[in-house]
Order: sequence, then C-alpha cells, then structure tokens
Amino acid sequence: MSYVQKVLDEVVAKNPGQPEFIQAVTEVLHSIEPALSANPAYEKNGILERMVIPERAIIFRVPWVDDSGKVQVNTGYRVQFNSAIGPYKGGLRLHPSVTLGTIKFLGFEQIFKNSLTGQPIGGGKGGSDFDPKGKSDNEVMRFCQSFMAELFRHIGRLTDVPAGDIGVGGREIGYLFGMYKKLTNSYEGVLTGKGLQYGGSLARTEATGYGLVYMMDELLKNHNNSLEGKTVVISGSGNVAIYACQKAQQLGAKVVSMSDSNGYVYDKDGIDLAIVKDIKEVKRGRIKEYAERRPSAVYTEGKGVWSIPCDVALPCATQNELNEEDAKTLLKNGCIAVGEGANMPSTLEATEVFLGSNILFVPGKAANAGGVATSALEMSQNSMMTSWTFDEVDAKLKSIMISIYHNMANAAEEIGKKDNFVAGANIAGFKKVADAMMAQGVV
Ligand code: GLU
Repeated sequence: MSYVQKVLDEVVAKNPGQPEFIQAVTEVLHSIEPALSANPAYEKNGILERMVIPERAIIFRVPWVDDSGKVQVNTGYRVQFNSAIGPYKGGLRLHPSVTLGTIKFLGFEQIFKNSLTGQPIGGGKGGSDFDPKGKSDNEVMRFCQSFMAELFRHIGRLTDVPAGDIGVGGREIGYLFGMYKKLTNSYEGVLTGKGLQYGGSLARTEATGYGLVYMMDELLKNHNNSLEGKTVVISGSGNVAIYACQKAQQLGAKVVSMSDSNGYVYDKDGIDLAIVKDIKEVKRGRIKEYAERRPSAVYTEGKGVWSIPCDVALPCATQNELNEEDAKTLLKNGCIAVGEGANMPSTLEATEVFLGSNILFVPGKAANAGGVATSALEMSQNSMMTSWTFDEVDAKLKSIMISIYHNMANAAEEIGKKDNFVAGANIAGFKKVADAMMAQGVV
C-alpha cells in the first residue's frame, strides 16, 4: 500500500464525522504523491503522519448574555495546526455550521496557503458556531469579549495571530482586540484585519478579492488572454466577492452576478457595486434587495448561480458550493477559467471535472492567498511600528500573487503536469513546510 494511502486510511478511521477535513486531506495527499516518491526521507521522518494532526486544538465554552437577559452558550475553537515556518496564522469563522471538523479543514488548508505566500506564517484557524446574523452590535460585542476571555491565553504576536473569515470583519476584530489588550495589558499586533486607527493595514480589506483577480489576470496573460471584456460570475457577496468584483471591473471585465445563502442576482448590464456595498457593508441586508433597486437585475431564490453563462467563474462564498453538475454546466457554457476565492468551494468531483477539461482551475489555497499574505504585511508593519501607503501594500500584494502563480505553475511543470495548479500549489506549499519540519527534528 502506498504511503499516501496508508496515511489517508488512518485519517479516515480517526476523524469520524469530519468529512470536510477528510476531503481537504485527500485532495492534498493525492496530489503530492510525486513529491513524496521523489524524496523517501519524508516517509522515514513521518512528515505526513505529523502534518495531518494539529500541533494543538483548543475547544472552549463561550457563554454570553443576549439582549433579553438570557444566557446563551456557544462552542469556541482554535486549531493550531503547524508552526514549522512561522507563528500560527489564520482567520476566525463565526457561522452556525462551524464544527471542529470545519476548523480542522480550514486550518489544514491554511498550512499550504500560508507557505505559498512566501511569508513566515504557520497554519491555524478558529471560530465558533455563533451566528452573527440578526444579532445586535452589543450581542456581538459580548460574544467577542467572552470568546477572547479564553482565547487570549493561547495567542500572541509571535505565537498565533488570528484574523477574520466568514462572519468576522472589522467590527468583530475591534471587539476582540479591545478585550485582548485589556486582559494582557499589551498593545501588540495579535490580530490582523484591524481598523486603520489602531494598527490595521491599508488594502487588507480589499486584499483577498484583489489578490484573486491579480492571480486570474496573471493566469490569463500567461495563456495569451486577458480579463478585458470577459463575462465574470461571482458567488457570494461578502468581503472577498465585493473586492473581487471591484478589481475585475477595474481590469475591464463585466461581472454579471453575485449571490448569498438565499439566492443570486443576474444583472445583464453588469453589477453596480455601490448598491451591493450599501446592502452588505452598511445595512447588513440580503442580496435580494439588489434586484429591487436595479431594474436590469433579476433575483432567483436558491442555488443556480453556476448556470449563468460566463468566461470566468469566481466562487467566493463557502466550501462545497460548486458540485460536479455545476462544473459540467460551466464547461458546457464555455467557461475558460475558475478561481477559488473561498476556501474549498469546489467538491472533489467538481475539481476532477475541471482538471480533466481545458478549464484553467486555480485552487483556493493559491487564488485566495492574498488575504493572509496581506495579513503578514500587517504583522510586518506592526513589528516595525510603521505603516505603508495603500499603493505600497497593493504593489506588494500584486507581486506576491504573481510569484505564487509562477511557483505553482513551475511545480506543476516539474512533475509533467502543466497547468495542473492543484498539484502545483499543493507541492510548492508542502515542500517548504516539510523541509522546515525535517530541519527542526522530531518535534
Ligand atoms: N480567513 C482568511 C483566509 O482564509 C484570512 C486569514 C488571515 O488573514 O489570517 O486565508
């Protein structure tokens, strides 16, 4: 039995009820086989067996009082997966679907993504099954304070640096930072995605979406094509989707759709981003309102955003939002490129469809790495007690995305799988972490 199969069987046996974690591990392990057989020392050193178990996973109670005076309780998580190349780094997700398995899948992905950025950051992730939707600001604040009342003892600017993810934006980071500072009496860059008044970085808000589009731009340029004049379908309408839309429009593409968990809008004249921002960033409302405010748009309840014909598809909502059928539909409709703005939005079967076709497919750990890369730039600025201009940060982000593209493209070519960016990204991300682990001994 192959080394990969042996480790995978163990992972499946030991992680019941964690399908997303198993999915993420399966995808990575299968695609790095060539790197493993080229270097038997990885097996001798138990690199995979070590990589699939977090260095530490913390689960804790988060009690808080709602506006009616009733006590509510949620479960909090922080999974510190791998610190071989830097302090644990990764977001916090607040969503009712969050379980230990969700956080483990995200933390595992983060190891390779963070490695690909070229920045000195390890992999981690956290969150809670708390649902911020429909909660008042005060309820969100009390939850965040309670969450940090436990988390603070496990993190630090050189230990573990959380950030945002689904359900965690500037508001939540502010409440978390305030509580950390109060409890530790230390003003440090322990979180990223902070407000600009207290240590945040310019361009961090835009970074994931911009980075995704810089990646697609570089991809298309290297295939004698460009984003100019392309029709783009984006799912989601959160931070990643909004700034992907903005950058795609700036580069001359026409974005015709966005969505949320209730349904999607199709706008034949192209998305008016000011309306989306007002609905999502100001009113915290639903995408349905977009069609009520924009005559050229229609709203459809439910899934189906991938049935809209497009040249480029950017899934920016959540995991497993794009299945095999969707992938086949995109292919049939003439889609030429797919870039994952979310973490693992394509199912394993959908990924297979893309890899077996002419569609250029960039997996999330490369395509959405601009967010965490810019978080690392925020950490640098905090350490140096300085702040760079928007253009400085944006230029660094762009050059990071371009170098990720070439690293993964070269890694794919080296194993004779040109344009297989799944294999390329996984191998490039894996090697750096594995070699650092080997150099540091059995720890
Ligand atoms: N949640 C983002 C991600 O999935 C950003 C993490 C960070 O900035 O640390 O990569």
